[in-house]
Amino acid sequence: MTASIDQIPVSKVRGVSALKEGELHAFGISTVKELLEYFPFRYEDYRLRSLSDIKDGEKVTVQAEIAGVPVLQRFGRKSRLSCRMIADQWMFTATWFNRHFLKDQLTAGREIVLTGKWDQRRMQLTVSESEFPDRGIQRSGSLQPVYSVGGKITQSWIRKTMGQALEQFGDMIPEILPQELIRKYDLMPRRQAILRIHQPQDSREGQEARRRMVYEELFLFQLKLLAYRAINHERVDGVQHEVDNATIRQFVRSLPFELTDAQKKVELEILRDMRSPTSMNRLLQGDVGSGKTVIAAIALYATVKSGFQGALMVPTEILAEQHMRSLQKLFEPFGITIGLLTSSVTGRKRKDLLASLQMGLIDIVVGTHALIQEDVYFRKLGLVVTDEQHRFGVNQRSILRRKGFNPDVLTMTATPIPRTLAITAFGDMDVSTISERPKGRKPIKTYWVKHEMLDRVLGFISREVDQGRQAYLITPLIEESEKLDVQNAIDLHIQMQQAFPNYKVGLLHGRMSAAEKDEVMRAFNNNEVQLLVSTTVVEVGVDVPNATLMVIMDADRFGLSQLHQLRGRVGRGQHESYCVLIADPKSEVGQERMKVMTETDDGFEVSRRDLELRGPGDFFGTKQSGLPEFRLADMVSDFAVLEQARDDAARLVGDEFFWTSPSYEPLRAYLQQEQIFQGEMID
Ligand code: ADP
Ligand code: MG
Repeated sequence: MTASIDQIPVSKVRGVSALKEGELHAFGISTVKELLEYFPFRYEDYRLRSLSDIKDGEKVTVQAEIAGVPVLQRFGRKSRLSCRMIADQWMFTATWFNRHFLKDQLTAGREIVLTGKWDQRRMQLTVSESEFPDRGIQRSGSLQPVYSVGGKITQSWIRKTMGQALEQFGDMIPEILPQELIRKYDLMPRRQAILRIHQPQDSREGQEARRRMVYEELFLFQLKLLAYRAINHERVDGVQHEVDNATIRQFVRSLPFELTDAQKKVELEILRDMRSPTSMNRLLQGDVGSGKTVIAAIALYATVKSGFQGALMVPTEILAEQHMRSLQKLFEPFGITIGLLTSSVTGRKRKDLLASLQMGLIDIVVGTHALIQEDVYFRKLGLVVTDEQHRFGVNQRSILRRKGFNPDVLTMTATPIPRTLAITAFGDMDVSTISERPKGRKPIKTYWVKHEMLDRVLGFISREVDQGRQAYLITPLIEESEKLDVQNAIDLHIQMQQAFPNYKVGLLHGRMSAAEKDEVMRAFNNNEVQLLVSTTVVEVGVDVPNATLMVIMDADRFGLSQLHQLRGRVGRGQHESYCVLIADPKSEVGQERMKVMTETDDGFEVSRRDLELRGPGDFFGTKQSGLPEFRLADMVSDFAVLEQARDDAARLVGDEFFWTSPSYEPLRAYLQQEQIFQGEMID
């Protein structure tokens, strides 16, 4: 049997020296398979054009005949070479910079292919590349792939090497998709698709090759998630929580409010999962202020009452402290112990905490990513809750999960991902959605004003504060520099202290120590501080119900979802709440964004409009999103394919044949390689 291309080292490709092999490793390429699956991200067009239909300024490739004597001018080490050419009865001048050595090759009557930028007025082509047909053509007349390159790996080297690899090993590229799917969507066979994605003969062929590979990428992604889930669900060795309804009700009755119907519904979904012997993997979605925290509390209570420990992981220290305090209040009457673990818990305190966790003296631990450090052990971890999950990578979540023996996992997010997209992107999770906010909440009145109205905004602030309420004042975001953000906040703080001598004005930013931040938040919580000037560190989760006014300076610098998150800091109590956006956006899109904010305070609607305004590709552009990143596919523009692929994968996974029939062997081998059967996902 011959070796398969995933076992052949890339050094077997002719032209790949030991040195180059090392360089390729940096690109994640060590086998022939990995090289062949290193796809171009676009193509350079070297197809021949006619001078009569090109526009001024275009980059074009034309075939011409040399019609004059070359003229070389030298300026020190620099040079300029020009020569008259003729093409389709047009006379024009070709000009090269710093290519003096070409002069002797430019003999009248010889054919030449020129690529460069066309200057219509001067009838001149500034040549960047040229080839002589009588010496053999490499690029001209074709679409050339453009790869992401760097270091000693150059564009021309990788093109040549890819061609070499395709020639030597192209025939060994195996098919992986089942024939029925290839037929169903009329896809290119894999071998052809990989050849043509690197070397398309025309753009239609390039697109067809891409279509095939995009489908494959999305299908394999879905298959991996669904197969993992199918296998995991069959396992009976998850945590089976045993807690009766009466016990749960005791806790729920102790809450200062009644649960909304939406909260009751998700509570049931979560408890049902927790009581089942298979492990829970559930995403809890709900707009800001919909009351997710109390749901987490119920789940944590249930795990403790079943004899397990629970962990709550949040993205910021402020949030950890806040959750710690509110859980303490809720759990105190029930004798449940809570610990806090953030990176500012150190030394003796940390040691003691870790020991208590390991001995099971602490029921619930609340913390930041400090929770996933290696030396953190639990005695009996039953439930992991992560809040505002988009701040954590999938990887970080699964590390925490592994600290227990398949503990139940509840992931909470306010990132309003359209439901279908959530189900598809987090294919391995069940999704619960809190679809309404607590009763009696009035919509947050949102206004957009220009900077010149700042005085009136200040008047508005004092009106609210005089009535006993509190306000946030968010300073502009300067993306490139946290330092400048901080400076902004400090300046604004001074201004506000002068503007409001009768109030306490607090200051919060990311460069303060945890203890300082904590103290400010505590003071704001207790209404010892009435006006809080802050950077976006309060963006997620912060909950001070008496705060009713959110003022955002230079609001056009923030993204829509961020504005929505910030606005969600108010409207958390029974008082009427307001959000004031101060902005003079210049662009139409910027103005449209401000309008969206004033028109709706429904997070799902905000995200829908955001998607429209931004267009595909950008919506999930940040690494923070926690959504998968694809090599070829685009979550948004290829969404229909993603859904299709999900259906196809689901059908296969549910089919007994899939697990046994030889025709699915390549797919099973893929799953094996991805370690799906070991019950651990490679993220
Ligand atoms: P989020 O979903 O944004 O995390 P929180 O859990 O912080 O929202 O809840 C927002 C506020 O609403 C909190 O002050 C919380 O105590 C309160 N709350 C939660 N559920 C209810 C309810 N059913 N009725 C009234 N207030 C509630
Ligand atoms: Mg929250």
